[in-house]
Amino acid sequence: MKRNLRNYTLEEIQTLISELGLHPYRGKQIYHWITAKNATTFDEMTDLPKALRQRLKEHFTLALPEVMSALSDEEGTTKFALKLWDNEIIEMVIIPERDHYTLCVSTQVGCSMGCKFCLTAKMGFKRNLEVYEIISQVVLAKKYLREKGAELPLRNVVFMGMGEPLANYERVVKALRILADKEGFNFSRKRLTVSTVGLIEKLERLSKEFPTALALSLHAPSDELRQELMPIAKKYSLATLITTLKGFPRVKKGRHTIEYVLLKGVNDGIEEAKALAKLLSGLPIKVNLIPFNPHPDLPYERPTEEAMEGFQKFLLSKGILTTVRKSKGLKISAACGHLSAKHQALQIHTFHKPHHPLTYSQAL
Ligand code: SF4
Repeated sequence: MKRNLRNYTLEEIQTLISELGLHPYRGKQIYHWITAKNATTFDEMTDLPKALRQRLKEHFTLALPEVMSALSDEEGTTKFALKLWDNEIIEMVIIPERDHYTLCVSTQVGCSMGCKFCLTAKMGFKRNLEVYEIISQVVLAKKYLREKGAELPLRNVVFMGMGEPLANYERVVKALRILADKEGFNFSRKRLTVSTVGLIEKLERLSKEFPTALALSLHAPSDELRQELMPIAKKYSLATLITTLKGFPRVKKGRHTIEYVLLKGVNDGIEEAKALAKLLSGLPIKVNLIPFNPHPDLPYERPTEEAMEGFQKFLLSKGILTTVRKSKGLKISAACGHLSAKHQALQIHTFHKPHHPLTYSQAL
């Protein structure tokens, strides 16, 4: 099987190219094409001799997942269903912001974390994504934006799609390294956000090996409630999580994000707001409140506007920077925490049935 070049760092590509008896300089050229220039075919690499391009085609591939559907809402949030080589389906979402685009990428097919408010959890875990499958989402997003003549840059990549990124640690970190490489994609680390339920050992590794912006999916201010909502909370206490968060480096002094999905009557009351404020007191964080988007397969309801407002106001009154996630993409089932906050992969998977793409449009 041909190797997909998007799996590799610059150094690795140079080695692969050297093994073909070519000067490593060619490796750098190729790397530049597939990252900074977002080439999707070898034929685009016009500064390489034709014979070399032919050789590359014989040894390597730049194959991308197939775009099965791309659905936009009126605000421009676009959700893509991507078919992988083994017919599994993942999603990515492009979200327009004031002066840039944000891309939300998946890191696994399915997820094993079992969060109660999440549809991905219902799929169970299927497999980890390879590095090239993570990178390909960025390539496809850039290609899409270029083809539609978008004027704003793709500046942020949030690892908040399907899956728990730190459960696919090695590949995710390698993808992060490739995305942050100044010789290539050149994303600022501050603009690469890893969202996690808080796998402590992996967080500690990440803090040493490749600190990025962090979004911690908290969703409850007490161990008891968190354990009800998120099975992983039985393994790691809130106290341990907060200690780990305190020790996690802040890229360029940025604040880490606390994700909190508001579930009506479950965790959206003033008592929970008080407990959350106490838990987060003095931490350099911001809180992102995500109103739950109801789904027939999930037993929760959307909080009322008053509850959301009350919750936010209380946190603000305690000096905690707090935003409420706007329901961008709601009509295409792409809103929810899953996108810009991740840990609520809700609704997205109404069409997570690889061989039934129609289910998707029917679900809209
Ligand atoms: S919310 Fe995130 S970690 Fe939890 S089951 Fe869903 S995708 Fe996995």
